[in-house]
Amino acid sequence: MREIVMATNNAHKLQEVRQILGGRFQVKGLAEIGCHEDIPETASTLEGNALQKVRYVHEHYGVDCFADDTGLEVEALHGAPGVFTARFGQMNGYGESHDAEANIRCLLDRLQGADNRRARFRTAVALILDGREHLFEGIVEGEILPAKSGNGGFGYDPVFSPEGRGVSFAEMNAEEKNAISHRGRAIERLAAFLATI
Ligand code: IMP
Repeated sequence: MREIVMATNNAHKLQEVRQILGGRFQVKGLAEIGCHEDIPETASTLEGNALQKVRYVHEHYGVDCFADDTGLEVEALHGAPGVFTARFGQMNGYGESHDAEANIRCLLDRLQGADNRRARFRTAVALILDGREHLFEGIVEGEILPAKSGNGGFGYDPVFSPEGRGVSFAEMNAEEKNAISHRGRAIERLAAFLATI
């Protein structure tokens, strides 16, 4: 089976992606190729960050590789936090980077009293295969709830309700969420492309 590396150490993401690609590709994480360093993510767009990660891995390890980068884009905040989604709370004095509680508190405070709570998750996936670069995108539209609801998922899941569902991502099981999520859709596009080679 052909091997491909996902430029992540996030076990949750690897599991999600193996469910989709598992039958046709052996998906390895960074630890499995001996990559333990922090890969820079300093670009100003999701696509830029995803490309930065795959270029790094391809350059240093010489393998076919893909990477994702996700942002939450809130209409009333003019598309913020976007590329700063993981650090939103920290940047505004609410806690540490990647602290989901701090991120959520920061977001709910920013949207207090807002009529327009529309938001979307957007994922960019970059792929380097046989030395060529490709980009894929996945989007899920929805809204930010006024308070947390549900215990599943991770990150902003308890306050994000995908359009037409009437529940938060944190109230859906993994299968339901993957079927409509930003990352699920982007990875499906990647999978469809990989199926053609
Ligand atoms: P990353 O690019 O996947 O590391 O995600 C960046 C930020 O978006 C992190 O703060 C994540 O918690 C958040 N995020 C990404 N995907 C999801 C999701 O499916 N649900 C909730 N939050 C997410």
